Amino acid sequence: MRHIAIIGSGPAGYYSAEAAQKKFGSDVRIDIIDRLPVPFGLIRFGVAPDHQSIKAVSGRYEKVALSENVRFVGNVTVGTDVSVDELQDLYDAVILATGAPNDRKLEIAGGDLPGVFGSAAFVGWYNGHPDFADLEPPLDGRHVVIIGNGNVALDVARILSKTRAEFGGSDIVSHALDRLDASAVEEITILGRRGPHQIAMTPKELGELGHLARATPRVEKDDLPDIGEDALLEPGMRKSVTHLREFAAIPEAYRADKDISINFDFFAAPVAIEGDIKVDRIMVERTRLDEQLRSVGTGETYAIDCSMVISCIGYETPSIDGVPFEHGRGRFANVEGRILPGLYCVGWARRGPSGTIGTNRPDGYTIIDMVADDIGEGEGKTGRPGLDALLETRGVQVVKFSDWKKIEEAETARAREGAPREKFVRIEDMIKAGG
Ligand code: NAP
Repeated sequence: MRHIAIIGSGPAGYYSAEAAQKKFGSDVRIDIIDRLPVPFGLIRFGVAPDHQSIKAVSGRYEKVALSENVRFVGNVTVGTDVSVDELQDLYDAVILATGAPNDRKLEIAGGDLPGVFGSAAFVGWYNGHPDFADLEPPLDGRHVVIIGNGNVALDVARILSKTRAEFGGSDIVSHALDRLDASAVEEITILGRRGPHQIAMTPKELGELGHLARATPRVEKDDLPDIGEDALLEPGMRKSVTHLREFAAIPEAYRADKDISINFDFFAAPVAIEGDIKVDRIMVERTRLDEQLRSVGTGETYAIDCSMVISCIGYETPSIDGVPFEHGRGRFANVEGRILPGLYCVGWARRGPSGTIGTNRPDGYTIIDMVADDIGEGEGKTGRPGLDALLETRGVQVVKFSDWKKIEEAETARAREGAPREKFVRIEDMIKAGG
């Protein structure tokens, strides 16, 4: 019998478990350990609440979770309740599927002023992550600046712009919906330090900005390269840039009917955030591209008055004591996912925060092939009973998958009309509903 511990119950964790089931059949026991009492990581806490079709992939993970040789072990923090060394003694393979839940730091003056948030915090707030339930973003100002030209920047701009009715069918938490509904925001500026041909935004997500009830996107025609240059782009990118061209062509008369303008400010790098006790403005430097398409400051600066700055510049994996870490790249030090024989990482913890949810599937299958090569038939380790005994001596209250189903049922029962679930945002409430 092989015993595998997977740390993290997001997409990378469940795809790895699915791969292990397929590879080893009934000759494997898999424990998926998560620090939170609820499973699915990024699906519950990262994917935008109005993207329910993406969230539906958790149905596939649930099938894996409900099979006999897979177990969810929630409310257990690796590094606090149990160490990686202890897990390695108990399991033939330990796979870190911890994702990249921390914000990449915005290293500019004023980056720590009240009113500056990283996307992990802001997205976590509207998605009901227990760590960010008390965030209280200031939505009483008229201008919000978003830094970054990726899909997270688009998610944040869209969520800030939607009306209550547009959140119908979503699972946005009510504390966020109520605050967003009462928001005074009229302008959202998305800063990109490079140009329209260097965005990391995908066409579907970009296109959504063109169909909002009370908001409309604004792109300056002068920022767009000659249309002939679009032919050199790969097809997905060309579609995204086509959306930007459509946004640039929106007539002023149409804008007049909209309450919120979403401004794309390209060739614009943040250099400082200023304010006496909170954010009052962001200082921005005009940039140009060098021959390697890197952004270079031109020395021309300007200020944008704003009451909140949300930095959407990517994420990092938190390090774990004793596990080799590549600080520059914000991920575990690994070769193709192997940290050392018996210890692996997968998904964003392996390669950094890039790619779609589906990218984690081949990742999971590759890592399990490697595990199979390394561990053979297993070394007669204790696995589950050993972990249970250890956690019991430490008084850790484990949340099982059946408890999660009760939490989910309670959330469904609490739902307001039109919303699939009303999520619990406090760990103690989740545990109570699961008990
Ligand atoms: P991302 O795609 O890596 O984009 C990060 C953006 O931040 C880039 O435009 C980058 O510009 C900019 N940036 C980085 N450091 C900066 C700095 N110091 N100052 C100014 N700008 C800076 O990251 P993300 O948006 O967090 O998304 C993470 C992953 O999740 C991506 O693979 C994304 O596609 C995926 N995702 C997908 C969806 C969806 O499919 N619906 C939704 C959300 C996220 P440079 O290019 O100049 O470095």
